[in-house]
Amino acid sequence: MSENLLRVVPTVSAWVPAQDAADTAAEVVSAMCPGAGELVACQYAEVTFIDQGANFEAVGCPACKAPLNANWWRERMDDAHATRFATLDTVTPCCSAAVSLNDLEYHWPAAFARFEILVRNPGRSWLSPDEAAQVSAVLGITVRQVFSHY
Ligand SMILES: [Zn+2]
Repeated sequence: MSENLLRVVPTVSAWVPAQDAADTAAEVVSAMCPGAGELVACQYAEVTFIDQGANFEAVGCPACKAPLNANWWRERMDDAHATRFATLDTVTPCCSAAVSLNDLEYHWPAAFARFEILVRNPGRSWLSPDEAAQVSAVLGITVRQVFSHY
């Protein structure tokens, strides 16, 4: 059975919120997703790739916007995985830009994080910019969203 996940994560990969901020943020997101199947706030021991599942289409360079070769990207992911995603720095082959794997242009978006608010079958689409700003305010850090399909 296929499922959709709406995932709200901090923009800084290693950052984790205090427990009360995490609880409050989960309540805020829950109120925005009244038709959701399930909502959990997850904290991971290590930085984790928050992937978009079948919504993966392409990866692009954030500096020059060139499409990045999928094999190049997979090799960089393997290298970073070997550091347990502690090091996400890389240099793009198109324009030699020094960037983080967390800031590549993922279509659809993906992210690296140690914390996520995961909404299973959210019954809605992306949070609006205003809603995302509310979650950012509660957590105390800017959030980004990943919409996964499996
Ligand atoms: Zn480039």
